[in-house]
Amino acid sequence: MVAGPAWWERAACAGAPLEIFFEDYRARGNSRAAVLCASCPVTEQCLQDAVRTESQQYAGPWGFRAGRTASQRRSYGTLRRSA
Ligand code: SF4
Repeated sequence: MVAGPAWWERAACAGAPLEIFFEDYRARGNSRAAVLCASCPVTEQCLQDAVRTESQQYAGPWGFRAGRTASQRRSYGTLRRSA
């Protein structure tokens, strides 16, 4: 087993099935993933990690993560790199 970052242990989605982040990835406020993210204490760390790691992936962002859709994370990453 590979250890994740320390903040991951406080994630609201720890132990949740991965598929919930892909079942309705366009949902912004009422999907199961969105509800988890809304109560998560490490959303900022998750977002920074998502932007960093997803920019290195060929397919780019996919699914719902860090309280944002893939499109929202892509826009956030583009803005951050241009700032
Ligand atoms: S912000 Fe969402 S995806 Fe990220 S760790 Fe928290 S619950 Fe999981």
